[in-house]
Amino acid sequence: MRILIFGPPGVGKGTQAKLLAVEYGIPHISTGDTLRKAVADKTELGKQAKAIMDSGRLVPDGIMIGIAREVLSAPATARGFILDGFPRTIAQAEALSEMFDQLGFTDVRVVVLEVNDEVIVRRLSSRYVCTNDGKIFNALTDMISLTTPCPECGGKLMQRDDDRESTVRERLRVYHSQTAPIIRYYGERGATITVDGSRSVEDVNREIRSKLQDTVKA
Ligand code: AMP
Repeated sequence: MRILIFGPPGVGKGTQAKLLAVEYGIPHISTGDTLRKAVADKTELGKQAKAIMDSGRLVPDGIMIGIAREVLSAPATARGFILDGFPRTIAQAEALSEMFDQLGFTDVRVVVLEVNDEVIVRRLSSRYVCTNDGKIFNALTDMISLTTPCPECGGKLMQRDDDRESTVRERLRVYHSQTAPIIRYYGERGATITVDGSRSVEDVNREIRSKLQDTVKA
């Protein structure tokens, strides 16, 4: 199974991508995670990306296309993958189509998660991440604050720099202006699967799998 997953920041793409990766036995590739690791490791890429990510803008296409090319030509992704966070611009989408042609990947499915912008702002500005195990919590629904230890492992919780409200609004603006046209690009080239991302993690996951199953059968 080869899947591209789209949706505004905070819609739950990463959560759903991780579940689908386990369910279909395919690697989850998140370009955001790749960049955050580079920032944490203080590599040259990380140094270049940090300020751009903190402002909510996009890392240049040339860098991102290079990362995608490297990952997709590795043996680990030869039999399938779920790509989360790439492509984000038309230039990236065109480069990806070329890579797919070269690699002979034809059965690529596109999943789109949709949710209202105000729900996103509320969700992200109350999202905390454990610095130890990477688990994600919500200040409102999990009744925690930044001074609470991680409910799972006791580690320290933090807020991602790009989850501050002003940055979230900029990320949404960038999503609507640069990434939403790609969904139309894929829509014109074949079926995209659209799912309401405002429901529970379990309900969203169930609907994605059911719709993927239907397209496999079609
Ligand atoms: P994400 O975790 O996918 O929301 O990504 C976090 C940030 O990483 C984004 O706001 C961008 O600054 C950067 N980023 C991740 N993927 C890409 C991409 N494909 N193109 C450009 N920037 C990206």
